[in-house]
Amino acid sequence: MRLTETDVLLVIDVQNDFLPGGALAVPDGDAVIAPINRLAARAPHVILTQDWHPPGHASFHGSHPGRAPFDTASLPYGEQVLWPEHCVQGTRGAELAAELRAERAELVIRKGCHPGIDSYSAFLEADRRTRTGLAGYLAERGLTRLFLAGLATDFCVLWTALDARRAGFAVTVVEDAVRGIDLDGSLSRAWAEMERAGVGRVASSALV
Ligand SMILES: [Zn+2]
Repeated sequence: MRLTETDVLLVIDVQNDFLPGGALAVPDGDAVIAPINRLAARAPHVILTQDWHPPGHASFHGSHPGRAPFDTASLPYGEQVLWPEHCVQGTRGAELAAELRAERAELVIRKGCHPGIDSYSAFLEADRRTRTGLAGYLAERGLTRLFLAGLATDFCVLWTALDARRAGFAVTVVEDAVRGIDLDGSLSRAWAEMERAGVGRVASSALV
């Protein structure tokens, strides 16, 4: 598959808290960095996302007395998985991985900034109304095809891929440049959902 000038490498949440040793570590999460760095060196455009929560965010289990990590809670916009506290604004855990070659990134989208709303998707927050502005940015620049990489396959990559399809973008997941959390089979469900939505898969070695 040949990269063209209207293609974007969209790198989701490669931050310390999602890597081994972090507050919400994705198994084998650091394995995404090498393929991402190889692609980021030559992708026509690179955009990054950063999960970026204020202290006491509604997605943290500690914000809901008596709840444990990975419980769910009913928030005004629907069911929310409760996570360990992670990616708090300005903390080391929220920083992009030091090994990530981020210097060619043209935009960093920060998401999950509203105290009461989570955002797995880089386009639309969990209330399904609050926009991050990414779709408008891509449209203004005439960027039409997205290659997704990063963490985690079954949450932020999945929701970003589905919203990108709904917004009319072509989407391909770089399968060796993502890793999942896999809560109760969520990883295989995520791949199936993406396939149904017309999201493609490619190995990083097949992108030239
Ligand atoms: Zn988060």
